[in-house]
Amino acid sequence: MSESHVSGLAPYASRPERSRGRRHAEPEAAGESAFQRDRDRVIHSTGFRRLAYKTQVFLNHEGDLFRTRMTHSLEVAQLARRLARALRLHEDLCETIALAHDLGHTPFGHTGQHALDDCVRGVAPDSVGFEHNAQSLRVVDHLEECGLAFDGLNLSFETREGILKHCSHRHALALVAQEPGGVAERFLRRTQPSLEAQLCNLADELAYNAHDIDDGMRAGLLSYEALRELPLFERFHREVLAQHPTAQGKRLLGAVIDRMLSQQVDDLIAQSTARIAAHCPQDCDDIAQAPALIACGDEGAAAVLQLKAHLRQHLYQHPRVAAANDVVRQVVRELFEAYLHAPAQMPTSHAVRLPVWAAVTDYIAGMTDRYALREHERLIGGQLARQLPSQLLSF
Ligand code: MG
Repeated sequence: MSESHVSGLAPYASRPERSRGRRHAEPEAAGESAFQRDRDRVIHSTGFRRLAYKTQVFLNHEGDLFRTRMTHSLEVAQLARRLARALRLHEDLCETIALAHDLGHTPFGHTGQHALDDCVRGVAPDSVGFEHNAQSLRVVDHLEECGLAFDGLNLSFETREGILKHCSHRHALALVAQEPGGVAERFLRRTQPSLEAQLCNLADELAYNAHDIDDGMRAGLLSYEALRELPLFERFHREVLAQHPTAQGKRLLGAVIDRMLSQQVDDLIAQSTARIAAHCPQDCDDIAQAPALIACGDEGAAAVLQLKAHLRQHLYQHPRVAAANDVVRQVVRELFEAYLHAPAQMPTSHAVRLPVWAAVTDYIAGMTDRYALREHERLIGGQLARQLPSQLLSF
């Protein structure tokens, strides 16, 4: 990062030299800030490479042009940097949080997560269950094997705080018991995380709303005419056609999505700037005590809600989803059972962990879509994966 950017940071921005530190003390590297070092560790992790073969919405094998968790994370990182620059927040921290935010996702998207959660609750009813945000933190804190002296990536507090963007009360209690005063404490105290963490949370949402329209159209599951019933979409559809009357097909769609996203970004910057000015935070401690300061305006938030409802009804709950989700749930359920009864089928590093159900959970959560399907075929047979209809999705 250039010096000019560092000196241009807002007083309430996160700063690596004021980091609350790492779980295991280690000397910081010369010529590289703590946040840059975190980013390097995330990019070189095995969890990050797996994102290339994990479902975002469309199952990974369906087509080369659909988003995966990897390309989604890169799009979130790009948006987060753009927003951070405009709001004078720390770009490297935003990029790092964005790149790491989905590391805990299971194969097969949200359906995979819910199936795994059901399995965990079935065998360990007193456990906190499975939740992908907590799992993302678990990946960087415990599961990655890169350090000689510690488990995990040993990231800084600020990156870890951003990764744990949501957390249920029961997960927060469990995490705080392990790490008093740690990154889950804010969910019990109801304080806010850094503005960089708040920003990444919204960048995630803006990114997937935009790219799910694109992917949904590409898959032939969304209708352009139905999208025009959304006032936000219709406004930019008309604007593009007024300036480019012959625009059509994917160029028209691309231009409309691009303008929608730009408008949402501009709105987020303007509204957040106004909220920050109204609360006058002097430093990070003030940010924690203030309400959420990174936010869209009421009008923008209402438009996003309409868009999300449209995507839920027409894309995520599309009739073709149901068949795929049934298959995917069965894959996860049968894999869980198989490893639970034969832990030696897992690599030794997992098989030796106790309790077995927790080891199985970590192992399945880390799988890519295609690895899970291959393992299912190896352990269960029956070629369930081949029942997956072509061009389906999972959510
Ligand atoms: Mg995401």
